[in-house]
Amino acid sequence: MREIQIGGLVPFTTIDYPGKLACVLFLVGCPLRCVYCSNPHLLSPGDGEYDPARIFEWLRTRVGRLEAVVFSGGEALMQSDVAIEYMRRVRALGFKIGLHTNGFYPDTLARATDTVDWIGLDFKATREKYPDLTGQHIAYDNMIRSLDVWLSTGKEFEVRITCDPRYVSPDDLLEIADILFARNVKNIAIQKYVPHFEDDTHKTTPAMRDAFFTNVALRDKINGMFSSVVWRE
Ligand code: SF4
Repeated sequence: MREIQIGGLVPFTTIDYPGKLACVLFLVGCPLRCVYCSNPHLLSPGDGEYDPARIFEWLRTRVGRLEAVVFSGGEALMQSDVAIEYMRRVRALGFKIGLHTNGFYPDTLARATDTVDWIGLDFKATREKYPDLTGQHIAYDNMIRSLDVWLSTGKEFEVRITCDPRYVSPDDLLEIADILFARNVKNIAIQKYVPHFEDDTHKTTPAMRDAFFTNVALRDKINGMFSSVVWRE
């Protein structure tokens, strides 16, 4: 079996796994090409530059200091069973395993349900707008299948919606909330879109990006639909 490709590491975080001190491993490769991607250096296979064995030895030194290891990307599940096997080894050290995923690989996620303890799942836009945002026509349907795979486990998770005003309107956000409510999702996070590069090609203004967060009626309606709604400004 080939080696896992790791392209980045955050050694300590309190915000990437709910309630746990964690580190984050960024795996390379992603099947999507989101217009706002902040990690373009991680999208292609071959971008890995961290030695997996050395990372594993470092993780051993974190036992008792950290509680969880989060696999992010790119899309960690693009590395399929290689990623799952590494997660299994990390979990055997005693860590909880978190996964930040775009949901593109529901069948791989189904194979990882015994290994992964918590996921943060991206719900990027309505079905209609997914292809323009992600460059993939099947990304929405795959993400919904992943959502259903995870719901069937009964494990904790969070659905994240990033409100890029070019691709998500307040009405879209309500449509997405309705879909999640109908599936009995409990925890969602609504994230402000922040341009990562210093150019104006995104053609959004601070007022456009803030609009979701200053709209009291929208916030109240969505807050009333879920056990937990985190507004990440
Ligand atoms: S899913 Fe994430 S890593 Fe992949 S292209 Fe989109 S924003 Fe970038």
